[in-house]
Order: sequence, then C-alpha cells, then structure tokens
Amino acid sequence: MKKMKNLKKAAVILLAIVILLFTACGKQVDPKFYQARIWYDEIPDSELKSGVIPQELPKDLKELAVKICKRVSEYYGIDGIEKKLPKIAMLDDATLRWLLGVSQDTDVFGIYVPADEAIYLSGAFSEANAPVLAHEYLHYLSNNGEVSGLKYNKSGRSFGRYFNEGITNYLTYRLFPDEKIICYEYETHFAEQLAICVGEEVLEKAYFNSDTSELREIINKALSKYYSPNNIFGIELDVFDLIVGQIEEYAISLAYSTDETSFNEALKMLDSLEEEIFFLGRSIGKTQQQKEALKSFMGQIESVVPKTHLQEILEEF
Ligand SMILES: [Zn+2]
Repeated sequence: MKKMKNLKKAAVILLAIVILLFTACGKQVDPKFYQARIWYDEIPDSELKSGVIPQELPKDLKELAVKICKRVSEYYGIDGIEKKLPKIAMLDDATLRWLLGVSQDTDVFGIYVPADEAIYLSGAFSEANAPVLAHEYLHYLSNNGEVSGLKYNKSGRSFGRYFNEGITNYLTYRLFPDEKIICYEYETHFAEQLAICVGEEVLEKAYFNSDTSELREIINKALSKYYSPNNIFGIELDVFDLIVGQIEEYAISLAYSTDETSFNEALKMLDSLEEEIFFLGRSIGKTQQQKEALKSFMGQIESVVPKTHLQEILEEF
C-alpha cells in the first residue's frame, strides 16, 4: 500500500515537472514572422577605377579629415595593423552624386572608392559630417583587397552588402553616440542587436578581418533549431546566409519601394529579422539588453511601428 502511495506521489511530481517544463519552454517555440526571401549581388568581374579627376582638399579640410580618421583608428586600436591613411581628395558635388548614384536633391558629403584606394569628400564637408567620413574610412580599413568588412562571396554570389553597411554604421556611431543616424537605420539597429549577442570584440574582429566564420558558427549553432538551412535559387544556404540574405532583401525592398505594398513587404522582412535576432539573444541570455535596444529603435521610427510586429516581439520575449 505504501509502495502504491509512493508511486502516486512520484507520478504527481513527474507531472508537475512536465507541466513546469512546458510552461517555461513553451512561451514561443516557433518563429511567427519568418520570411523565406533573400537577396544577393552578382560578383562584379572587377572593381573598376572610377576615372574621376579629383582636386586637392583645402589644407584645413585635409587636417580635419586626417584628425577624424586618426580618431577612428585609435578608437578601434587599428595602429597595430599599420594601415596607412587612404588618399583623401575633393570632388565636385555633381560627380559625387554620380558616383553615389543619388539624385540631384540629395546632400552628399563623401564616398570611398576601393579601386581608387581613395575617399572623396565634397567641398561642403565639415566637422558636422564627421560620421560620414568615419563610415567611409571604416570601409577602407576593413577592406582586405578582396572583400570589404562583412561582405563575402559564396557560390559565385556576393552576400552582405547591407549587412556590412549596418555593421559599418554601427561601428561609426559608437564614436558619435549623440548624432542622429541618417541612413541604414534598421541595418544599424540589427548590428547593435548582434553586438549585444556576440559581444563587441567578436563583432569587431570579424569586421576588421573580413572573416564571417565565428559569427556564422554562433548563429548557426543557436538558430538551427528554429530555422533550417535552405536551398534558394540553387544555392545551399546555412542559417547565417539566410539571415544575411534577408537583410539584403529588406534593404532592396525598402530602397525600391514605390508603393505602400512593397513598403509593407520590407516591414515584414524587418519583423522576421528582429524575431531571429531575439531568438539568438535568448539562447545567450541577452534578452533584457535587446529589449532596451529595441525600445530605443521603436522610438526612432515611431510612426512606422504600428505597421510592424515589433511591439508583439517586445512582449513575447
Ligand atoms: Zn557605406
């Protein structure tokens, strides 16, 4: 009889444990917002020299530019790798706009052209545009002669153009925390979330060495139970590639969205990405920090938030 009672007791305890486990893990098991869409670039045959004829920068602008570049190098401890300063010259705004591929009414301040090994600045460049130069200089510093920063080639395709822009911008604005981010807003936020998850050091090492392997391993290990490797357009993609490809898809949809529908498509990609980075953060115990970062991002894009599921993501994690 006593044995029976003990068995009953054990069964009740077991049931309680099972219920507890289900409640603890069952909060959100499956991705809700996953979008299986990606974008990549064709690998250019060669990065052509621009052929532009720049002018010397006026002395005061040159000094300002060198000062800003040195500040970036010092902040990231780059001196050790003995990267020289790039050629920094001046271009008229019409030529700068042509190089950047932007319209006449866009303000332009600078661009880095890898094949020229040069950064070109507008004559209107001033201290107020320091983040623009810092951003371009980071592209220069992270270029290993083949790829720049966290761009990478796979199966004859080039991945990570906007992923890399986001990371570059994130690293830029760490030096200018009070400045308002004026481009690649979501890509930069995603980079911040990634930095929270993997740590600044891992992210910087990957970026300056143009080496995605550690990030790839962390992401694949943590997220393979939620997302499966896929074969899209005949390319074998692991989870890391899928996420990078989604960032590209988001950026391209946004850049070419001329109507409400494609804008909303871009926002779906954004929801998908945010949920993914929250799954990563949860596996590493970074949810609280990520929520703070997300709240701050939602504050910046307040008017867009009702069209996203960011509030839901914030509450569910
Ligand atoms: Zn850039």
